[in-house]
Amino acid sequence: MDEVLEQLKAGVRRFQTQVYPQRAEMYAQAASEPQRPHTLFITCADSRIDPNEITSTGPGEVFVTRNIGNMVPAYGEMLGGVSAVIEFAVGGLGVKHIAVCGHSDCGAMKALLNPESVAKMPTVKSWLKNAHAALSVAETLHERLPDRELMEELTEQNVLLQLRHLKTHPSVAAAMAAGELTLSGWVYEIGSGAVRMAADGSHVFKALEK
Ligand SMILES: [Zn+2]
Repeated sequence: MDEVLEQLKAGVRRFQTQVYPQRAEMYAQAASEPQRPHTLFITCADSRIDPNEITSTGPGEVFVTRNIGNMVPAYGEMLGGVSAVIEFAVGGLGVKHIAVCGHSDCGAMKALLNPESVAKMPTVKSWLKNAHAALSVAETLHERLPDRELMEELTEQNVLLQLRHLKTHPSVAAAMAAGELTLSGWVYEIGSGAVRMAADGSHVFKALEK
C-alpha cells in the first residue's frame, strides 16, 4: 500500500468536506472569471514555504513559480519554465508586482557554500550557476564584515541578483518602463515567520514590522 498516497487522499477528502464548504463562495467566484493575479511570487521549492499562507492571499491573487533557490536565469541563458512564467505573468496576466522570496536554511544556498554536496546531481549543480555572482559578492562582503553569517549574506545577495536578472527579461523591462510593474526582494525566516524586504534598487533588507 502506498502510505504517502493514502495520506494525500485523506488530505484531499478533508479539504473537500471541511475546508471547501466554508469557502465555497470564494472558490465559485474564482472559477467564474479569468484569473487576475496582482502579483508574481517567485520563491524556493522548499516544502516549508507556503506563499499563500505567508501573504494571507487566496485563489486568484498570486501567480507562483518555485524552483530550487528562487532563481531567475538571466534572459536568453536558460529559456524555459521560469522565463515563460515571467513572460506570461507580465504580458498575459498583467501582474503589477513581482516578489522574489528567499528563505532561511535554504538548501540551495548551503549547496553553493558546499559544492561537493551536489557533485552527484549534475542538473542541480548546473542550475546553481544562476547564483554564482551572489556567492562571490557574499564572500567578498563576508571578508569585510565577518560578524554577519555568510549564509544570511548569501541568501540576501541571491535575492538581489535574481531581481537584477528579472530586469533582463524584455517583458519585465517594458512593463517597468511603462510604470506598470514594481519589484521587491524578500527573505522569509521559517522559524519565526519574520519577513525582511528590500525595495527595488535597495541593497538593504528591512524587517517587516508585525
Ligand atoms: Zn530554498
